[in-house]
Amino acid sequence: MHDTDLRESRGEERMIHKLTLQTSREGFYEITSTVSQVIRASGVTDGICVVYCPHTTAGITINENADPDVVRDMLFALSKTCPERPEFRHIEGNSSAHVKASIIGSSVTVIIENGRLLLGRWQGIYFCEFDGPRTRSYYVKVISSIHPVDC
Ligand code: ZN
Repeated sequence: MHDTDLRESRGEERMIHKLTLQTSREGFYEITSTVSQVIRASGVTDGICVVYCPHTTAGITINENADPDVVRDMLFALSKTCPERPEFRHIEGNSSAHVKASIIGSSVTVIIENGRLLLGRWQGIYFCEFDGPRTRSYYVKVISSIHPVDC
């Protein structure tokens, strides 16, 4: 579906992981299984993880992954809400993508419980591309709620 690269998959000390993703065009790319892999590799059983996107025309969100029409409808709604407009002044010509990225937001926080992401039955984590195709990156920061002294 899309390429990911676990560059720091065994980074137990830093517990921050940079991943890459090749996008084709505007779309929602599910990254739930990759984030789950990062959690497993970290060995953290209770805590939180932050999934963060460092781009200005892409974002991260959580939404339904059971019916693929949900994310299609979300893209449709975003495009109807913020189309490119002749009044936009940004020289790059992608202000619509910037607006959508801010509406969606650049990160999500997910609880880790018993070594697993505490997601609802129908929820998935999505990298949201609004200006592809691009080679993108995102970060997963894993924070254990169990202090090393307690171990
Ligand atoms: Zn721009």
